[in-house]
Amino acid sequence: MTMTAPIEKTTTTERRDPVELESQVRSYSRSWPAVFTHAKGSILTAEDGREYLDFFAGAGTLNYGHNHPELKQAVVDHFLEDRVVHGLDMFTDVRREFLQSFDERILQPRGLDYKVAFPGPGGANAVEAALKLARKVTGRESVVSFTNGFHGMTLGALSVTGNSMKRGGAGIPLVHATPMPYDDYFGQVVPDFMYLEALLTDGGSGLNKPAAVIVETVQGEGGINAARAEWLRGLAALCAEHEILLIVDDIQMGCGRTGKFFSFEEAGIVPDMVTLSKSISGYGLPMALTLLKPELDIWEPGEHNGTFRGFGPAFASATRAFELFWSDDALEQSTLAKGAYVEGRFNQLAARFAEHELVVKGRGLARGLQMPSGELAGAVTARAFEEGLLVETSGPSDEVVKLLPALTIPEDQLTRGLDIIDQTVAEALSA
Ligand SMILES: *Cc1c(COP(=O)(O)O)cnc(C)c1O
Repeated sequence: MTMTAPIEKTTTTERRDPVELESQVRSYSRSWPAVFTHAKGSILTAEDGREYLDFFAGAGTLNYGHNHPELKQAVVDHFLEDRVVHGLDMFTDVRREFLQSFDERILQPRGLDYKVAFPGPGGANAVEAALKLARKVTGRESVVSFTNGFHGMTLGALSVTGNSMKRGGAGIPLVHATPMPYDDYFGQVVPDFMYLEALLTDGGSGLNKPAAVIVETVQGEGGINAARAEWLRGLAALCAEHEILLIVDDIQMGCGRTGKFFSFEEAGIVPDMVTLSKSISGYGLPMALTLLKPELDIWEPGEHNGTFRGFGPAFASATRAFELFWSDDALEQSTLAKGAYVEGRFNQLAARFAEHELVVKGRGLARGLQMPSGELAGAVTARAFEEGLLVETSGPSDEVVKLLPALTIPEDQLTRGLDIIDQTVAEALSA
């Protein structure tokens, strides 16, 4: 048995470097070592007065830009009027308004009939809730996920995430999840979709019948891999045939990122469950939803809960965002137009450097330019930062320059950022 010495009380404090104080787990501040103080639209301002153009948008959390004036007004009013800030899942007026607005502006116009569960503040909470419910409903344990999928950092979400570095952080075996090839995993050499189908129908395959399949329509962290609409339809049909629940993780690609509010609308599929977070509050405030078909709603009251599920200011800004951006299709059309513009610019780059075989990826305003290596992609984003552009990499080797600008970005800023990318890609490839 060891005895620990009593802690000696010190009477003086010293001012320590906060960077030293913070765990080394931090990551974005390594790519972008500036201290940011202000943000407006697609511009972030650092302490030294330098302005940065934001092609990252909080990893898809700021689809309507930073500090949108009307969303800010909704949040500020909420505070100034002493409305309920924290309410667990008690009834509040803002919660009611949010649910009604979500139903009237998002669900009903799309003919979608979902129940809304508030699983906790972050995306991983929404994923955990979906996985738990899928297991409870079907009585089965395993979940099929896809190569290069990303679903969050908690153990359940990590078990269906591909990235080996992130998986390694779990410290325990990640079980009850089976990875399958995502669309085009074998580069059109093998019709990869048939793999899952074959295993499901072959009594000798060794695949336990899964409770659910979880999929992103466009894999954001995985390298901006966009599944084809027919692949998604095939997957939905296969799930229906085998009574496997289909979960679409729309945490990053939902809320208009690919044009329509939900990224799966284009394929015309209706998932059994949908996870949303990131841009759902519209303002960068924590909020997450798990949408489920009504017949799946077999929870016992309180069987899944969490402290932060009723954040009043997030309800207020989300409701305002539905009114502002989802009353007509103006945002959808402009997102598609901007996305096509980015694609065109990337195609020009790929043609200019044809010998390097750059790959142009994505849908809507989720766009990627795959460089020959992670090193080269990293060189592009590092030089872009020096030129005042925040843009990150993704993909298994960080080889994809990943663009997620705010959907509301003005065209001149979009052009300016793409000019910087042109320049830095040219530098990297000719170095
Ligand atoms: C960001 C993300 C998550 C996890 O959300 P957190 O809020 O970080 O827990 C899950 N799935 C997808 C597709 C994401 O992009």
